[in-house]
Amino acid sequence: MVLKIRAAVATRRTPETLIIARTDALQPLGLEEAIERCNTYAEAGADALFVDAPATREQLGEIAVEHFGQAVRLVLEPVIGDPVLREVVGPDLLRALAGAEGAQPTDDEVEEVISLVERFARSDVAYRLARAADLRREEQFTFLVHPPGGQPVLVTGVVDAIGREGDGRVIVDYKTDRVAAEDIAAHVERDYAGQRLIYALAALRDGAAWVDVVHCFLEHPDQPVEVRFEAADAPRLAADLEGLAAGIANGEFPVTDRPHRWLCQGCPGRAALCSHPEELTMADPPPD
Ligand code: SF4
Repeated sequence: MVLKIRAAVATRRTPETLIIARTDALQPLGLEEAIERCNTYAEAGADALFVDAPATREQLGEIAVEHFGQAVRLVLEPVIGDPVLREVVGPDLLRALAGAEGAQPTDDEVEEVISLVERFARSDVAYRLARAADLRREEQFTFLVHPPGGQPVLVTGVVDAIGREGDGRVIVDYKTDRVAAEDIAAHVERDYAGQRLIYALAALRDGAAWVDVVHCFLEHPDQPVEVRFEAADAPRLAADLEGLAAGIANGEFPVTDRPHRWLCQGCPGRAALCSHPEELTMADPPPD
């Protein structure tokens, strides 16, 4: 199914063609499996997701919650960098965008998303993006690193937004993690320092003289965590990344001691290979 979706996305000739992925897994295999399949289909590029035959309002709610983060991203994408659109995000637009993503948010969730978007739209980060040149959303990047003694490792990823400021770049990664305001900086250092390194290296290898990598938590848009890297930092960043990638290049894949569903959903080893019980891999994410 994933290959079919990828093939459909790759051969789509007009943007009007909507790729809808349906799963009938709910009844024979359960809700978790149906949601997991939908997440995989979304990652493969499906525009809309269809979980067939939810039987209760609770199941509908769970399906919607699982896609809450994706719905927020979908709503934010057109808003970023568009000074007109960001003033007019209302419940109808939000429900339409969320519906296209397979989510049916409750009234409370709609209110919450609108509040998040409005606060983000008024933030300095949003205005900075609106002023940047050549603003791109969901921009993909790919580059190679060469860990010592191992095979080359292909690094790929997607940044939420990237724009040019003179000979530099600004990259913004927005997060829906729920984090206390006083814990944001430590949270970024612990969970996103590696991601920040990769984003910075991608921009510097693309020829940027400098890059600011900004993590913006939507619950606290006025407390972005921003770090600047200069072109001269690129060799040090590459060495750090090669050190991180050395284990992968040598076939070492240690299992996390904190499994949870945000991390483990979609992991091909979850049911059979993982050393953790399957229910732990679907546990709530840790609060920090
Ligand atoms: S299911 Fe197991 S192996 Fe897969 S990401 Fe989670 S902890 Fe790691």
